[in-house]
Parts: sequence; C-alpha cells; structure tokens
Amino acid sequence: MTTQLSFDVQLNQQARTVAEREQVLASPGFGQTFTDHMISIDWTDERGWHGARLEPYGPLLLDPATSVFHYAQELFEGLKAYRQPNGSIVAFRPYANAARFNTSAARMAMPELPEETFVESLELLVRTDKDWVPSTEGHSLYLRPFMIATQAGLGVNHPSRNYRYMVIASPAASYFSGGVQPVSVWLSTEYTRAAPGGTGFAKCGGNYAAAFLAQRQAVEEGCDQVVWLDAFEHRWVEEMGGMNLFFVFGDRLVTPALTGTLLPGITRDSILTLAGDLGLKAEEGKISIEEWQAGCESGELTEVFACGTAAVVTPVGTVKGADRSWTVGDGTPGPVTLKLREELVGIQFGARPDTHNWVHKIC
Ligand SMILES: *Cc1c(COP(=O)(O)O)cnc(C)c1O
Repeated sequence: MTTQLSFDVQLNQQARTVAEREQVLASPGFGQTFTDHMISIDWTDERGWHGARLEPYGPLLLDPATSVFHYAQELFEGLKAYRQPNGSIVAFRPYANAARFNTSAARMAMPELPEETFVESLELLVRTDKDWVPSTEGHSLYLRPFMIATQAGLGVNHPSRNYRYMVIASPAASYFSGGVQPVSVWLSTEYTRAAPGGTGFAKCGGNYAAAFLAQRQAVEEGCDQVVWLDAFEHRWVEEMGGMNLFFVFGDRLVTPALTGTLLPGITRDSILTLAGDLGLKAEEGKISIEEWQAGCESGELTEVFACGTAAVVTPVGTVKGADRSWTVGDGTPGPVTLKLREELVGIQFGARPDTHNWVHKIC
C-alpha cells in the first residue's frame, strides 16, 4: 500500500493554560503528566491502516473482552524530543525506533506500520504540543508510541483482527537531578526475563509484566535494579532492568551480543559507534558473572554502565547475588562512562556536532 495516510486534526478545547503547563514543566518527573493531545491510527484486516487522527488526550473506551486485556498482544517504543540551543526541536534516531517497532510487531503477529507514518505521527504530536518540550537543561519530551490488539472476543486460535496504534507524550526531567549516581544491582538467578525463541528482542509489555517480581526482589535485597542472566545457566549477563549493559576493560568495551533474548537498544547501538569515535575498541561478546567479579577483583574490568533512552548512561557501582557481592572500580562513576554519556547527551541536545546524522529535526 502506497497511499499516504492523512491525519484528521481535532485540537483540544480544554488544553491546559500556560500557567498549568509551566507548573508541570517546573518538575516533570517521569511519565506522570501527559501533553494535551494524542495520536491514534486504526488497523483492520479489510482496511489496513486508516482513521489516522490527532485528538485531545483522554481515556479510551474499550470492550472488556478486548484481546489486549486477556492475551497481552501489545508492544511499545520509547524515544525523546530534545530542545536545541536555538529553540528548535529534534528527535534522536526516530527511524531506528520505527524499524524496531516493526520487528516487535512481526514477533507479536501484529501489523507493521510504514516507517514514514511512524515518524510523521511523532512529528505531528510534537509540533502540536511543542510548548510541552522543556527548555530546562537535561529535560526532554518522552514519546511513547504503542500498539494494542483491539478485537473483542476471547478466541485464542488466531491473533486479533483489529489493532490501534497510538502515541502519547510526557515531559521528562533529567534522570539524575543531583549528578550521575551509580546504581546497585541484584543478579537474578531465580527468575529469567527471556529464553531463546521467546520475545526478549521485542519491546512488548509482557516482558515487563514478567520482570516486576524480580525487580521487587532486587529492591528487597537492597539493590536499585535487577540484572538478567541467561535462561539456561544463569551465568551469562544479558541486561539490567530496561537497559543494556557495557563492560569497560581499560580502552576496550564489551556489550552482550544480541542473541535474540536481549532488547536491541538504540542507545546501545549508538554507544558502539561513539566508542570508536573516541578511540575506544568496542565489541559485542559474552560475559559471565564469574568474569565480571574476577575482572573487578583483578582491576582489569574498570567500569560497568547501563544505557537506554530514559536514563541515557547509568554507572553500576555495586553487584550483589545470592552468594556473592562486589564493587565495580571504587564504586563511583568512571571516566569512560562519563565521557560517553557527555558525548551522547551533547549530540541529543545540540551541544556537539551530529556527525552520524542521528538528529532528526521536527520543528
Ligand atoms: C527499551 C529497552 C532498552 C533500551 O533501548 P533504547 O532504545 O536504548 O532506549 C533496553 N532493554 C529493554 C528491556 C528495553 O525495553
């Protein structure tokens, strides 16, 4: 289908006042308050994608038998719009999110959305709600595209025949308001996030539903975040919560390879490229918890950090498992971690040259 969708625009007559918006933007937190509008596009077997619209942000009315409530046929994306020094607004690598959205859709037996339509939907929402893009240093507008199965009925022998794609947006504070803080992590040997053949590489809500219990256990163990290990041996490091991990051996970076059980982070991919720019060696490989501990004890493994859109780059300070615990370096953020963070944030906010054409101007 090559027919371009055109968006019907219905502006919010009850949009919040300037004063109300300023109050939210003064301390936005994360994912708490949403802008005045949202995007919806429907899909059916017969019509494909249709009914594209921008409308006032508000609740949905869905039949209780709607498929997504019962069988979790759902996926989502996450990216940010950044205010530049000259006041313009950009998104970071939105086509990479569009491509990943479709990889997730294929795995979940859901329809793919043309990449152009995905990016156009983000542009329309951000342009309409541009005053919600913060100007405060380090703050941004978090964009949450997602898709749900909307057919009503409990039959399980086929995927839904109807879907809705939506985008909502929420102003976000810098993850670290008081400087970059290292996190403590819990090695989850009791639970697994993903197994070969499963949905680990897809950005679907079910992966998160299955993760909350382990995350709660991590907190009970006095840690900030859960680290996921492979499903067979509970030895090979995969991810940390909703972020990918990097291990720094002096000037060599190693990140777990994309085996199908890891989420292919766009921040991860960007850091693999940026590391080369900074004269570091970066490779995808395999790292076990034994190598992690021994490397920290010998001093060969100098830094560990996690990365993702929400918190960008987060140092890992301490590691705890059922029968072991250790500190990474001296437990404070290392120079490679901080350098990569500064470089990436610099490109996103327009303080550094965008040599890889990652920045996509919206308005
Ligand atoms: C979204 C996500 C990431 C990070 O992806 P980015 O594109 O870098 O934001 C990593 N792991 C999981 C499980 C995720 O859901």
